[in-house]
Amino acid sequence: MTPLERALHQRIKAEGPITVEAYMEACNSYYYSTRDPLGVGGDFTTAPEISQMFGELVGATLTDCWTRAGSPTDAIYVELGPGRGTLAADALRVMRAGGFTGEVHFVETSPVLRELQRAAVPDAHWHETIEDLPARPLLLIANEFLDALAIHQHVEGIERRVVIAAGGLTFDRDGEIVESSPARDNAVSAISTCLAAKGGVAIIVDYGHAPAGPGDTLQAVRDHRYASVLEKPGEQDLTAHVDFQAVARSAREAGVSVTSLMTQGDWLRALGISIRGEALARANPKRREEIEAGLHRLTSGEEMGELFKVIGVHAPNWPAPPGFE
Ligand code: SAH
Repeated sequence: MTPLERALHQRIKAEGPITVEAYMEACNSYYYSTRDPLGVGGDFTTAPEISQMFGELVGATLTDCWTRAGSPTDAIYVELGPGRGTLAADALRVMRAGGFTGEVHFVETSPVLRELQRAAVPDAHWHETIEDLPARPLLLIANEFLDALAIHQHVEGIERRVVIAAGGLTFDRDGEIVESSPARDNAVSAISTCLAAKGGVAIIVDYGHAPAGPGDTLQAVRDHRYASVLEKPGEQDLTAHVDFQAVARSAREAGVSVTSLMTQGDWLRALGISIRGEALARANPKRREEIEAGLHRLTSGEEMGELFKVIGVHAPNWPAPPGFE
């Protein structure tokens, strides 16, 4: 048994069955606080870890919005769940070159990842929650952050729970599953409330679907392979597809404007990833193959290009971010 599995057995014996939401919350907070899950030696790889072009294009997008908004000097770069800090370092290189001198603020709960982020961006400020961010115009990016926040699952209107049966963990019911995530709704509301009050723009990238529909999307990934959700709790990454309709709804309710939803492939192409890739390859001829492979992985429909989606959220008096139709 994993250490968390033992703790969950004790908890269920003492308190009774726990909801899928409580299970996911417990698993991910243990998982992220005890390791660096990213990259070849970890469990999964994200877009900024594949190619520097991802973070650079995010940086170019945020700089464009900031400049068109009149370059407010009190604006801050904000990232939710910055992982190893790779995206921030790539984005900030472009933003600094574009004249942005503002502070860097990270929302991150994992002490292990905070250390890696400190190595990548030494002068950042860290916060436990979105609510702790200063009230300033935000230039915000969240890549694969919402998918890690806990979801509820309901079967025929009844909340699905995790129980102990035959000495192991199992779900108490099966059937057509409907998912929802108050944790995500709250996160999007909190960002949007800041944007509405102080201005700014947020780019949200994650894997998920546009039309909300029933279905079980909770999944576990360990060592770059799909695994069983109830196996090895706390030792594998649990995520669920992001319902972008819910994201757009929470944002609009808080009084901000929302762009159309794009696939990651279309969005990166609209921002000029091919031109950036060609320039990089020309400057680093020995890395051409690696650069082209990264571009393919980020944009191809068989790779991340279609499963991953991007949405922009901005204060009504700020320009809409570029790249969206
Ligand atoms: N954005 C990074 C990492 C994605 S992994 C990248 O693209 O590479 C998810 C990140 O969110 C990790 O940094 C993890 O520690 C953080 N995270 C997960 N749940 C969180 C929570 N509830 N509050 C703050 N950060 C969280």
